[in-house]
Amino acid sequence: MLRRVAKKVWPAASAFAHPGGVARYHAARSGSRILSNDAPSGTTLGEAGGPASYPIVDHTYDAIVVGAGGAGLRAAIGLSEHGFNTACITKLFPTRSHTVAAQGGINAALGNMSEDDWRWHMYDTVKGSDWLGDQDAIQYMCREAPKAVYELENYGLPFSRTKEGKIYQRAFGGQSLNFGKGKQAHRCACAADRTGHALLHTLYGQAMKHNTQFFVEYLALDLIMDTDGSCRGVIALNMEDGTLHRFKGHSTILATGGYGRAYFSATSAHTCTGDGNAMAARAGIPLEDLEFVQFHPTGIYGAGCLITEGSRGEGGILRNSEGERFMERYAPTAKDLASRDVVSRSMTMEIREGRGVGPMKDHIYLHLNHLPPEVLKERLPGISETAAIFAGVDVTKEPIPVLPTVHYNMGGIPTNYHGEVVTIQDGNPDHVVPGLMAAGEAACASVHGANRLGANSLLDIVVFGRACANRVADIYKPGQPHRPLPKNAGEATIAWLDKLRYAKGDLSCAHIRDKMQRVMQNNAAVFRTQETLEEGKTLIDDVWKSFERVKISDRSLIWNTDLTETIELENLLINAVITMHSAEARKESRGAHAREDFKTRDDANWMKHTCGYWEDGKVRLEYRPVHMNTLDDEVESFPPKARVY
Ligand SMILES: Cc1cc2nc3c(=O)[nH]c(=O)nc-3n(C[C@H](O)[C@H](O)[C@H](O)COP(=O)(O)OP(=O)(O)OC[C@H]3O[C@@H](n4cnc5c(N)ncnc54)[C@H](O)[C@@H]3O)c2cc1C
Repeated sequence: MLRRVAKKVWPAASAFAHPGGVARYHAARSGSRILSNDAPSGTTLGEAGGPASYPIVDHTYDAIVVGAGGAGLRAAIGLSEHGFNTACITKLFPTRSHTVAAQGGINAALGNMSEDDWRWHMYDTVKGSDWLGDQDAIQYMCREAPKAVYELENYGLPFSRTKEGKIYQRAFGGQSLNFGKGKQAHRCACAADRTGHALLHTLYGQAMKHNTQFFVEYLALDLIMDTDGSCRGVIALNMEDGTLHRFKGHSTILATGGYGRAYFSATSAHTCTGDGNAMAARAGIPLEDLEFVQFHPTGIYGAGCLITEGSRGEGGILRNSEGERFMERYAPTAKDLASRDVVSRSMTMEIREGRGVGPMKDHIYLHLNHLPPEVLKERLPGISETAAIFAGVDVTKEPIPVLPTVHYNMGGIPTNYHGEVVTIQDGNPDHVVPGLMAAGEAACASVHGANRLGANSLLDIVVFGRACANRVADIYKPGQPHRPLPKNAGEATIAWLDKLRYAKGDLSCAHIRDKMQRVMQNNAAVFRTQETLEEGKTLIDDVWKSFERVKISDRSLIWNTDLTETIELENLLINAVITMHSAEARKESRGAHAREDFKTRDDANWMKHTCGYWEDGKVRLEYRPVHMNTLDDEVESFPPKARVY
């Protein structure tokens, strides 16, 4: 049931006509995102009616969550528990969010397999981040982790168990005991290799217990910003009937996930299009550290589907064409369980040096066939099936052909450890944007810095989803009165939507998307150089320009996937362009950003977060300091040192 507060009809397409195509339109709308003239909500703009009018529905809530993956659902549950009247807007049915695909598990120092300490987990995460992570946020996440996992257990998540009935924890990449001095840690709690599926369904069940109002298959288009720089809500398109909806709330939480689909080969769902990032960028908020894109070592060759790191956690081994377990050379201690960036680079080196497998010598084998069939059946049933379907491989007998594949975006919308969105203002690098928060893969807290450790993202989404809800409760009370929205709230967005809907260019959305994905795959790859990145900047800027020529053939508003995919393409492009420009600027190697011309980490010049602003179709870069401080004296800050595994 929708709460229909007011229903209005918006002007006909012609009222917003911008002759001259998408180009002119973009020029026309640039700068018009910050809205002015406070006026009572309910004002109708322009003339109503007409052949292609846009009915609009206004909604008022205490808080708005955009996204119903793990981060969005956990935030919504917390808000409802605090008594806030909450709307959760999602373009997908909640349980179809990409969180459902997570396999390996969720890290927490529960100490079920050996002694453990959240400080050791924190050390590993700081080291994994290659000292680009904010240590206050990392402390917060690792200290909260056991509580978060027990909360999930209490919610009913069916974790795998040890013989004694405790939550089973497997080995995962980059996890050690005793500040890196001890052995491999077993810290990753899982539900076989379907942890995300179990987690998302559990959270959805919990959300149903509360009175969060879900708006399913609503595509959020833009933030509604006020003249004082605060966020007042969002405007969204109901994809089923084409109505537009303005949501007003004291707090808006973006939990829209990553933008893996900017690349040609990615493990992420086709729906991971960085919409929230682009919405923030269009509202003048910088995107942080986008140059750090994680390649997962084991995507299935050709298909890109993920084979979880948990397969190596259970004893799987990578081998080259000579049958050699080459990770022993690159990471003598952690071997196949070194951090993901290290393993992906090692595989790429093997292939480059002619030791790849297959007729083209262009991939690597992952062997699980030496593992007991019971272990495969009990702990890795999902990937056994995936390998059979997508690679035609029986994992009990044959190796799986694998290749590093884009998997995760470390960067995103900058936040502090409460989940509040921050920007640089008047020399303050931690200026809070009132009314706006972000959590999950869309956000950059920054707990992952330059490289995320496996099983730290499911943790991030539940810890920071909850943190956002708690922060809203610190600031607001349920039912607090609202100021009216700016008079023309959402007007520029409707003009944009209308322009796209009638776009008459000569290039299809699919054509432009393919170009973008290939440029990103070739020019912002596992290894990067000045040449590839400079060329990449020119090429991706050209793809952005070509978006002016986009053509839409379906003019309807009912389930118009031509239109929604084109909106998602624009969002992807904004992420892609900022990624390439940020990567070209960073003249060092750190975490996932591996430059062949600047091979080492340069803390003196580059221990800082990139902030990429999107201004009139161009990127402007600024930088903000990394938080080296911890929250309190329960743990000391970890000073930078060389990162070896
Ligand atoms: C194959 C795979 C396996 C993984 N395995 C693990 C693992 O084992 N452990 C781990 O820690 N991490 C893992 N990860 C990473 C982790 O799963 C993700 O980073 C995390 O689940 C992201 O959660 P999220 O809530 O931020 O976003 P998502 O789960 O991606 O949800 C995004 C939500 O935003 C909504 N949305 C997006 N745009 C809009 C819009 N414009 N309007 C309205 N709604 C919108 C969508 O409908 C969706 O509900 C894996 C990732 C992949 C791809």
